[in-house]
Amino acid sequence: MARPPALPAATPNPTTVEAIRAALNPQRLAETALALIAVPSPTRSAGPVADRLAEILIADGFAVERPIADWPEAPAVVVRLESGAPGRTLQFDGHLDTVHLPFVPPRLEEGYLYGSGASDMKGGIAAFVEALRVLRETGALKSGGVLLTAHDHHEGPWGDRRQVQALIREGYVGDGVLLPEYLADPLPVAARGMAIFEIRIRREGEPVHEVLRPEGLPDVLTAGVLLARRLQELHAQLGQKSHPVAGQDSVFIGQFQCGEIFNQAAVLCTIKGTRRWVTPNAGAAVQAEFADLLAQVAGETGTSIDFDFEVQGEAYAVDAADPLLAAFQIAHTAVTGGPLPLGRKPFVDDGNTFAALAAITPLSHGPAATGAHTLHEQVALADLVRVAEVYALTALAYCGGG
Ligand SMILES: [Zn+2]
Repeated sequence: MARPPALPAATPNPTTVEAIRAALNPQRLAETALALIAVPSPTRSAGPVADRLAEILIADGFAVERPIADWPEAPAVVVRLESGAPGRTLQFDGHLDTVHLPFVPPRLEEGYLYGSGASDMKGGIAAFVEALRVLRETGALKSGGVLLTAHDHHEGPWGDRRQVQALIREGYVGDGVLLPEYLADPLPVAARGMAIFEIRIRREGEPVHEVLRPEGLPDVLTAGVLLARRLQELHAQLGQKSHPVAGQDSVFIGQFQCGEIFNQAAVLCTIKGTRRWVTPNAGAAVQAEFADLLAQVAGETGTSIDFDFEVQGEAYAVDAADPLLAAFQIAHTAVTGGPLPLGRKPFVDDGNTFAALAAITPLSHGPAATGAHTLHEQVALADLVRVAEVYALTALAYCGGG
């Protein structure tokens, strides 16, 4: 994950930091956030809000690209700010779609923004836009550039991340990427990969009364119990595969279903759960190991077993010497007086996709917003201003600024 040459991140000079701070406009940031929240954008229907973001950026004088990126319903929004001199590109990437809940209109009340997507993540995208504006207005970026990308298809189960994947395939990728997830503390530098599995254990024939079972009829319930025990044993062994920050490998069973009534021998048993891992890019190997275990139980029990294994995100770990990490901490120190403690990322986000498909370093950092995936999203405008300043200064420290 060290594609750009490891030039050190550079501390922007105090005059530039002052200029950035003075140029940040909370009112303008709030208006952008409110304008985005006002356009409903459930996952797979983010076209109108993408259009709205594009209009805002065009009105600001930016040249906007609209790559379809595998989702014609809502072409993505792409903007570049170039210094004109060679250097690293910092990507700002966010999703414009929201979970499928009833629409909550925007409002700004006593310094807090409310409404659908305020926390997840239209507030954060507005902070990106404000950071881009102040970088341009101050002319502080002296080398490299910033690439802003915004897209649909993030929130599961409605979306499958196809648009961010297409953007990456089509080359809309920086040397490192910031994501404005609602995670203000700690700074996640390691994340587990995660897959959701559904296992189906079957036997041939019809359901049958328990007393009418032919001799030797395979028993899907017994096979399911055996498999569940093997998965628990695997979980215990996996505890040894650990990462100091990310945690450890795991298998978790959340659902076990079998049979229709108490005295009927079933034909189907299903087991659902998650498999998590700490080793970067181990998804395929983990799936192969899983398939082997299932095939073994099928062989022992005379059942047939098939399964889905949907990888939600790959594991990654940020190199301690990564210049984006250093740049972020320089920016955070300039804004708050100290570096942000490092930690693990509790959820899977598009950062996992960037790490796996683009092989670039992702850092997820956003406002201390609350109520994501509920009807009560809430974010402090002051905190959006804080993250906008962190984003702008990270770009200067990473790409090079005056
Ligand atoms: Zn979300």
